[in-house]
Amino acid sequence: TEQSLMRAMSLFTFNSTFKSNVRFCDIFSMTSDGAAFQYCCDEFIEEYKDQTFDQMAGTDARGFILGAVLAHQYGAGFVPIRKLGKLPGEVIRLDSTSEYAKNKLELNPSHVKKDGKILFTDDLLATGGTAQSSIKLIRQAGGQVEQAAFLISIPKLGGEKKMTDMGVKVYTLFEME
Ligand code: 5GP
Repeated sequence: TEQSLMRAMSLFTFNSTFKSNVRFCDIFSMTSDGAAFQYCCDEFIEEYKDQTFDQMAGTDARGFILGAVLAHQYGAGFVPIRKLGKLPGEVIRLDSTSEYAKNKLELNPSHVKKDGKILFTDDLLATGGTAQSSIKLIRQAGGQVEQAAFLISIPKLGGEKKMTDMGVKVYTLFEME
């Protein structure tokens, strides 16, 4: 309901000293509330209910949360994209720049189903740098990504356009300034 949506939205908190120069949105003040977290997960489950996916892929670490929930719901696998040095095995790597950090992201291509239909998930879409590099890695490994799901998007930072430009359709529950 509209009321549940407004309540979940009201639970996000903002911190301006956590990461310098950005108004950091804490999603855990929402996910730590059982009713709000369930409501949000159910909205994503509803959005994709008429589709099937081979795998979900999410980026270290908050992308694992929604990704794992949806993987279980759809009987899909879960593939992690991780920051430098966290994944065992042979990995492929790309630089990425986010709203507040430069990272090296890694993926183990043996985790990706070749030509598999994969939904990318993360908590928040800002400049789109993280999602762009993550999706490039999945595609390089042979997966097909045409859709991405985020709890929150900040459209003025350009991430949605980056996704559209790379042929990825975005679904977000909340838009913030
Ligand atoms: P982007 O690469 O789109 O600029 O930034 C998105 C990435 O950085 C995501 O992986 C997300 O987890 C993280 N991020 C950037 N800004 C925020 C924020 O305000 N709150 C949270 N929770 N994550 C953020």
